[in-house]
Amino acid sequence: MRSTTGWQADGATGTLRRAALERRDLRPDDIAVRIEYCGVCHTDLHALHAHGSDANGALVPGHEFTGVVTEVGGAVADFSPGDPVAVGNIVDSCGTCPMCEAGQENFCREFPTLTYGGTDRQDGSTTLGGYAREYVVNHRFAYRLPAGLDAAATAPLLCAGVTVWEPLRALGVGPGSTVAVAGLGGLGHLAVKMAAGLGATTSVISRTPDKAEEARDLGAQGFVVSTDPKQMEAVRDRFDVIVDTISAPHDLAPYLRVTAMDGTLSRLGDLGPVTVDTMDLLIGRKKLSSAGSGGRPSTAAMLRFCAEHGITADIELLPSSQVNTALERLERNDVRYRFVLDMSDLD
Ligand SMILES: [Zn+2]
Ligand SMILES: [Zn+2]
Repeated sequence: MRSTTGWQADGATGTLRRAALERRDLRPDDIAVRIEYCGVCHTDLHALHAHGSDANGALVPGHEFTGVVTEVGGAVADFSPGDPVAVGNIVDSCGTCPMCEAGQENFCREFPTLTYGGTDRQDGSTTLGGYAREYVVNHRFAYRLPAGLDAAATAPLLCAGVTVWEPLRALGVGPGSTVAVAGLGGLGHLAVKMAAGLGATTSVISRTPDKAEEARDLGAQGFVVSTDPKQMEAVRDRFDVIVDTISAPHDLAPYLRVTAMDGTLSRLGDLGPVTVDTMDLLIGRKKLSSAGSGGRPSTAAMLRFCAEHGITADIELLPSSQVNTALERLERNDVRYRFVLDMSDLD
């Protein structure tokens, strides 16, 4: 085994503490990555809360990171030591099911191996995430970091970015589309940048008017206050695609009402059971969908698109020793718009 250092959950307190970690020795198709930057995702919070009640097994969060290749296995031809790379929230999949064959490893029928809290397909070990100095990953699930993109601000593209990119692309968003992004956090701010970059007329739907200027700065032309019935009525049946990134449970009806005829509401910030009045779908033939993560081809395409358009996350960079502060502040949405941890203090 290889040894590294990272931030591991302390089941009793629900916080993270610095700990020595083990990584597997490289398999022929593995690369070792020295992690430079890792984003802090809402999923990390959920995982920590869940871990608190079930303190079995080690938990090291972190599934959107960038770094540098330090070593490659004997069968790896596409990476060399020194290459800058990015890794997201999937590190393996069966590779042979119809979803994998379609390049949608995120929907693998055997469930993809998650970057942390997953079960390694070969040795059955629990995967430990990117809040660490080193990660060992199958080269198929590492992506070359495009030149010109800031490595720290690119890290969140690997989870938040691809999660909003896939529905935008799958729903055909481009010039002529009318898109609304509900919720302006880690996912939402990237959805605005990408939708605007794709040429769509883009609006933000927010509970209060105070983010209107930020929304404009990110590329939104419109701004709708969801708590103002007049403003919502004014955009009734307006949006071809709504990317709903609101992380708390909420009523879908007001958002379906402002979805255009034959349009789609993609709810991806809050997963789980929802109540829908079928009449809200019937009137206007509206569709309800969801999205999460992305397959290898679309992750690579997303990175190319972001490089072409100069899109990265707006981040607050903290030394990794402040990971607990970052998580506390994320819990109360006190971040514009994504925390990224600098791992260099782990040396
Ligand atoms: Zn995530
Ligand atoms: Zn599969």
